[in-house]
Amino acid sequence: MKIHEYQARQILQAAGAPVPNFEVIDTPDQAAAAVKKLGGGNLVVKAQVHAGGRGKAGYVVLSDKPADIEAHARRMLSVPMVSKQTGPQGVKVSKILLAPAVEIDKEYYIGMVIDRAKGCPVIMVSKEGGVEIEEVAAKNPDAIIKEWIHPHLGLQAWQVRNLTAALGLTGEAAKDCGKTIETLARIFMEKDCSLAEINPLVMTKGTGGAPGKIMAIDAKFTFDDNALFRHPELEAMFDSTEENPFELRAKAANLSYIALDGNIGCLVNGAGLAMATMDIIKLHGGTPANFLDVGGSVTKDGAIEAFRIILADSKVKGVLVNIFGGIAKCDVIADALIAAAKEIGFKIPVVVRLEGTNVEKARQMLEEAKIPALIGAADLTDAAKKVCKAVA
Ligand code: GDP
Ligand code: MN
Repeated sequence: MKIHEYQARQILQAAGAPVPNFEVIDTPDQAAAAVKKLGGGNLVVKAQVHAGGRGKAGYVVLSDKPADIEAHARRMLSVPMVSKQTGPQGVKVSKILLAPAVEIDKEYYIGMVIDRAKGCPVIMVSKEGGVEIEEVAAKNPDAIIKEWIHPHLGLQAWQVRNLTAALGLTGEAAKDCGKTIETLARIFMEKDCSLAEINPLVMTKGTGGAPGKIMAIDAKFTFDDNALFRHPELEAMFDSTEENPFELRAKAANLSYIALDGNIGCLVNGAGLAMATMDIIKLHGGTPANFLDVGGSVTKDGAIEAFRIILADSKVKGVLVNIFGGIAKCDVIADALIAAAKEIGFKIPVVVRLEGTNVEKARQMLEEAKIPALIGAADLTDAAKKVCKAVA
């Protein structure tokens, strides 16, 4: 589960990290009051969306004029944001964060993820903060310094010193940055994160002879869905408007749905079979639009909902139903297919490959139902060839 930057700031603030205060608004006419609450001055206006790359997309702007701030908020709330991470259709912005802008001397990256190869968390820091870290990782991997965290010993003081030294920090700045690294690591462990990052963590410009300060001005957390039951306070931060509506519908029906870019809808049971189905579609020149895994213990209602979800996506020009009846029974799927055909009507070809428990009964039911759009397949290769041909 992902959360917004303003929610990440709340978590960081509560944990004692240095975060500038902020206000969140959801309509442009709330801008004036928010500016007032923040005491005016130079403010940063930031769209709250789960996608990154906001700076380059023009959805992070600085201004000290209340009228401009309101105008930017109005623009961001009405024009979907298109960034490197969103796709050409962009994402709708529903909330804006306003915060006092800080004067930046240096931008750093600090982040933490699970290193799957090593089987433990890893903390990464880089002097090349602010920009997309993926780019740094690809072009200049040596600019990212890592420390792996022993699952029992936790983050050690010497590791923190290594990281702050790698950022070139000394004295108070090193101490403050070290504290923030420790705070991030603590949040990561306590809240079962799969990703926790501050980008940028900045060194502000000092004023009047006073040195600059370490501040977190953008943060991102992703939580492990399987651990969410332990964190009701995080579950409450869930924003369904940021999720793919088809994926939400599938989740509500206990189905797993993954949206992809092609035009062939895949209705399968089991993740392994889904992978094999997509591979064989690719092999025969097609591209999957999604895969919907109905799981082992699918009911008729669940399967009908699965068809509704797949057919509601206008990208889908053909469907491949690939069911191996083990615990799931082929006749249940056939029954759902017939009901879905009646209810929704199949306006596109639906290729069906059934095998396993009660397959004879299922084939007979489908034959008797005489659904025009249905195309039977002898085996998986035959099914893949037929569906690819049907959408070609
Ligand atoms: P992202 O592009 O979605 O990651 O959004 P960020 O919050 O990281 O902002 C992008 C960039 O805008 C940062 O790397 C900074 O260079 C700049 N920026 C953001 N907030 C401030 C601020 O308070 N003051 C200044 N001077 N620049 C800022
Ligand atoms: Mn950022």
